[in-house]
Amino acid sequence: MERIFWVECPKCADRFCCDYELRHSKYKLICPFCSEQFLESESPEIDERL
Ligand SMILES: [Zn+2]
Repeated sequence: MERIFWVECPKCADRFCCDYELRHSKYKLICPFCSEQFLESESPEIDERL
């Protein structure tokens, strides 16, 4: 089973899930709602629940 985590977009505050491979990486996440690109460290909230 693929592990995921949830992030909150710093621009539009919507939440979406990402593949866990992107956790602790240097890749930017892309918000599916507003197309904002941001690092996970810029997310106001991160939820790692399974
Ligand atoms: Zn957004």
